[in-house]
Amino acid sequence: MATPPRLTEIECPCGKVFWTIDHDYRGMDGVYVAYSDRRYVCDDCGYEGPGWTLLRQSPSEFLLQPHNMYPMRKKDFDYWVDILKSHFPDHPCVRRLGVTFVPRLPEEELNQSLEDERLRGFASTLGKLVKKIQSLVKRGNDEGGRSIK
Ligand SMILES: [Zn+2]
Repeated sequence: MATPPRLTEIECPCGKVFWTIDHDYRGMDGVYVAYSDRRYVCDDCGYEGPGWTLLRQSPSEFLLQPHNMYPMRKKDFDYWVDILKSHFPDHPCVRRLGVTFVPRLPEEELNQSLEDERLRGFASTLGKLVKKIQSLVKRGNDEGGRSIK
């Protein structure tokens, strides 16, 4: 079975760097071909054949997000989203970004964001309360300096 597609940065023997999307295992045969033995075509010098150098590669789980078994930290997800958007703007995941293409956050990060949300909610309630008190005090002052009963 083919393994998940990964954003893959490769360098031609001529030194030109490209991004492609490839699989560690491409097909049903279960045969692993080292990236350096794979044949790619260079748009720059026209070279076609093996001998490319593998540079960066997205984690296998990136294009599978949100994945319950393989969560991703927000900052890692965002790092690969930037690369996806700049090198593969037509990829279906770009259209789904923020809608159905979102990271499944690790539990501790999820708890943190829930906690932040609760704190924001609390801060907003507190802010409203302060405004209310200020307006009551102001009304009290406007009414001739009498204190609020
Ligand atoms: Zn080349």
